[in-house]
Amino acid sequence: MARHAHATPSAPALLAPGSSVVTYADLSDAATRAKVWLTSKGLGARSRIAVCLPHGIALALTVVAMGCHATVVALHPGLTETELAALLADARADALLGWPGDPLAARLARQQRITYLALDLERLLSGPTEVSDVETDACAGPLPDDTAFVLFTSGTTGQPKRVPLTHRQVLASACNIAQHLALTPDDRGLCLMPLFHSHGLVGGLLAPLAAGSSVVCTPGFDGAAFMSWFAEFAPTWYTAAPTIHRAIADLADEAGGAPSTHRLRFMRSASSALPAGLQQRLEHLWGAPVIESYGMTESATQMASNPLPPGLRKPGSVGLPAGAALRVIDDDGIDQPAGSVGSIVARGPVVFSGYEDAPEANAAAFRDGWFVTGDLGWFDADGYLYVVGRNADTINRGGEKFAPFEIERALLRLPAVAQAAAYPVPHPTLGEDVHAAVVLMHGSNAHPHAIRTALFGTLAAFKVPTRIHVLDEIPVGAGGKLQRRRLHESIECTAA
Ligand code: ATP
Ligand code: MG
Repeated sequence: MARHAHATPSAPALLAPGSSVVTYADLSDAATRAKVWLTSKGLGARSRIAVCLPHGIALALTVVAMGCHATVVALHPGLTETELAALLADARADALLGWPGDPLAARLARQQRITYLALDLERLLSGPTEVSDVETDACAGPLPDDTAFVLFTSGTTGQPKRVPLTHRQVLASACNIAQHLALTPDDRGLCLMPLFHSHGLVGGLLAPLAAGSSVVCTPGFDGAAFMSWFAEFAPTWYTAAPTIHRAIADLADEAGGAPSTHRLRFMRSASSALPAGLQQRLEHLWGAPVIESYGMTESATQMASNPLPPGLRKPGSVGLPAGAALRVIDDDGIDQPAGSVGSIVARGPVVFSGYEDAPEANAAAFRDGWFVTGDLGWFDADGYLYVVGRNADTINRGGEKFAPFEIERALLRLPAVAQAAAYPVPHPTLGEDVHAAVVLMHGSNAHPHAIRTALFGTLAAFKVPTRIHVLDEIPVGAGGKLQRRRLHESIECTAA
């Protein structure tokens, strides 16, 4: 960022509907002003500033400016007061920054006995950039191995885990993504994903800034506004989870196709598996490639990705290692041959060195210096990785173990099925049984019984779901992820 502020100070860095442009010079000055502001409050390089703001350009500016000089603890603004209080205490926040006049942030800071900072955009954009002599001592900058961000995992498999990401790691990841996507100052990204998760923060915001590109900071995905953002800002790419890609494909279909004047060079998909059919649909609609990538909070997002054309994209695969070394191993730690499923482990500059205050989780999370991702997958003969699910999602039906992904793939091959999720349900004798939820293709009225019968052609009988529920939509978590072990509760217990 500093490099671009020096070379092209007036180039746009952040844009948003209805807001003035923030240039690279503005962003760099905001970082200096954030340092002055924090120092005046006695907050130094290792202070932890929890940030709880709604999505948009103010949050993006704050996170970047504060993140250059202290540790930013990124909080989900939609959490309840009790949830936020617990996270603030756990993450040992020294200050809480909230929207001016937001009584919740002020109250939480008071309860936690930490400093309350009301967001002062004017101060960040035009306040003092000089520090007084008295304050200079407290003003030393952070070191590369200091924590830049504390993020929480999505909580798909249980309680969210607290992940510290260092400056070195975040920079390595942002530069890796920027290079992989060949981002340049001429690119303009549309930032749709939340900044309190690594996908949005590093993939959607910091990677384009590392390349000197501009970023359109949206208030989060909004189907009603999406096409107008395209017309106003002409983005050259965006990154999103498959649920958002699906909504975008539906919007383009409703509009009779994608806008003919669009400048999209590619679309990036991550956070969960992208169905091959959705990839084809998007590519057909926009006439641009979809680049599927794979990663997690612990790796400051990306660890593998399909290449941009002319490189070969393989639908259903998350691509080649990109950012980290990846292996697929068995329970004894032996590398699996091509085609065999095993546990995905990772190592490299983007991979973290452990959860905070979690010795037990860390003991299980590392094996001979490799991070055990908790995901299952296999490599093909060309070294492309296929993620088949999570260890924690494996269904054990009376001793027969299998991944829900296998069932979902079989369901998605049926012409009537648009979306599918298989999930375990408690069973008195088997331990676990398997059920599935599907969303039907537009215009289909297939009966669950017919769908179930069709599965016997492609799946072993013990994998065929006992019940299939036809729904209008399948419930997902905030990051657009399926929480399979909670689906029984959200679909069946709610319906009962
Ligand atoms: P928790 O660790 O709290 O259970 P989480 O793993 O969902 O939650 P994140 O770090 O946000 O939290 O998500 C990373 C996970 O998302 C990966 O481990 C993987 O399971 C999944 N994932 C990411 N990208 C892809 C992809 N392209 N295909 C399949 N799964 C993906
Ligand atoms: Mg995880």
